[in-house]
Amino acid sequence: MAKPADTRTASRKPVVKATRSAAETEKIRAALAARRDELRAEYDQTLSEITELQRDRLTDSAGDDQADTGTKTLEREQEISLANSILERITQVERALERLDEGGYGWCERCGNPIPVERLAAFPSATLCVTCKQLEERR
Ligand SMILES: [Zn+2]
Repeated sequence: MAKPADTRTASRKPVVKATRSAAETEKIRAALAARRDELRAEYDQTLSEITELQRDRLTDSAGDDQADTGTKTLEREQEISLANSILERITQVERALERLDEGGYGWCERCGNPIPVERLAAFPSATLCVTCKQLEERR
């Protein structure tokens, strides 16, 4: 006699996507928090460099020729755009931490699989798994 269909298998299978263990989520959170602290330190340092360049410009500019002044202005502009891009990355990491709490972070946008913890630690703003990323790049 044929056995009735095993309903347990069907109900046990996640319908939408795989789950991540709490330990893995904590690992991601720790990696994101570490990255955020790193970026904040980098940002603070860049800001103090900008302040220094600004001070140099105000105090030493009397003896500078135009080329020097131009170089300093350029340096300062580069520092400012660096500071802005660091700030942007801090925002991305903070957004990632929020989404991690909501359970919406760390899943591939394309295939829905969990993105490996190591990849998220290296690229907190990653939204694709390695396979999908490679597919995207090949296009
Ligand atoms: Zn994927």
